[in-house]
Amino acid sequence: MGTFVDLLDKSASARALGDWAKLEQFSIEVLRFIYKEAKIDESSLKIVIRNYLSSIVGTGEFLTNLGSHDVATYQEGLRKLLQFLEKRPHHFTSIEPVLQSAQEIALLALDPISANRNKIAKHLREIARPDLAVTICNQILAKTRLNYYSRTVLCGAYCDLNQFDKAIEAAEVGLRYSPGQDKTFPLNALVRAHTLKFKSNGDFAEIEKALEYGHQSIDLKIDIYAANAFVAAAIASAKEDEIEFAKQILEKAEPELRKVDISALFQAAQAQQALAPEAQVVESFDESADDDYFMGFDSLIDLVVRDEGFVPKVLDVRKMIERFGRDGWFLQGLSNVPCPVCEKVALHSYRKHFQRYGKDMHYWALVCDVCQTATDSIDYDKTAFSFISGDLEESFPVANLCSECGG
Ligand SMILES: [Zn+2]
Ligand SMILES: [Zn+2]
Repeated sequence: MGTFVDLLDKSASARALGDWAKLEQFSIEVLRFIYKEAKIDESSLKIVIRNYLSSIVGTGEFLTNLGSHDVATYQEGLRKLLQFLEKRPHHFTSIEPVLQSAQEIALLALDPISANRNKIAKHLREIARPDLAVTICNQILAKTRLNYYSRTVLCGAYCDLNQFDKAIEAAEVGLRYSPGQDKTFPLNALVRAHTLKFKSNGDFAEIEKALEYGHQSIDLKIDIYAANAFVAAAIASAKEDEIEFAKQILEKAEPELRKVDISALFQAAQAQQALAPEAQVVESFDESADDDYFMGFDSLIDLVVRDEGFVPKVLDVRKMIERFGRDGWFLQGLSNVPCPVCEKVALHSYRKHFQRYGKDMHYWALVCDVCQTATDSIDYDKTAFSFISGDLEESFPVANLCSECGG
């Protein structure tokens, strides 16, 4: 057995050659090594885990060939890794999204409908297999040329592979096909691709383009994806006015961040940029992680129509119509507490996972079978609602039901 650094080097060349069997073998050796030594820094562990996961994906036959259904090898490898990490817990937060993506791939591979294949491609980037993400996106695009979501994922995957021209081309076509507000996704992807291309070749025309696309995206919608992509471009450009503007945008996108925190964040990033102009100092959030962008079939309305047989009435307040129309809802259960309106035991609770500043939370939708209405928790009297939510949590703990909480 070689030294630790040796093994990491060998892993890197096995990865470069696409020798997945060797990569698996070296990764296991590294894992055994840290099992005994128990000392590894966060970024090295992330590399080792990505290497191992990449190796058990292998040729990816189970993902690219819909007829294969052979997800068992991957699942078994993943199970072993999770078991290992349980015995030797390394609490590094940056490992979590990698493991989560690895688990999502196992689940999504069981149901390879088109929307799921888009998600698989996105998760493949997280476990460092952008090559397979490219294959899958191109498979989808061969059937549905206009799938602008796939083109946005494709842009990110090509960026991972340092093929910036292909990345830019993919997102430009995606931009043409995206309707209205959805244009922010390819726009943010273009901001990132041009920023990275600028960092690779130093051509100022690239960073100009990045900033231009960034302004277009922000004009359409300010959110954390647009803000992060723009912040990265502004810092890379080193232009004072763009940096000032980026601070204001971040303030709007993250109203909970304090001004001093934002200043500190920029100061640190600018200092880091000065030291290493080619490095990516602001980690861009995935430009297409927004749920709205996934085409799926589990909006609240879909679920109620399918399971309860009616279209619930929803008041046009508090963005309920928009929220209930999005994907990711799941049934929590039937409340033992009667509906405050019709006084029948007929209230079904549906929930949808979301995250704010690292904390897992769940939206509410209460659907009464008798009243045939759907509403959030705000409409209820505070005491009545605390009975309903308390009863539901006792019978159906939401963290156990929610797939995103890993229950
Ligand atoms: Zn009712
Ligand atoms: Zn959850």
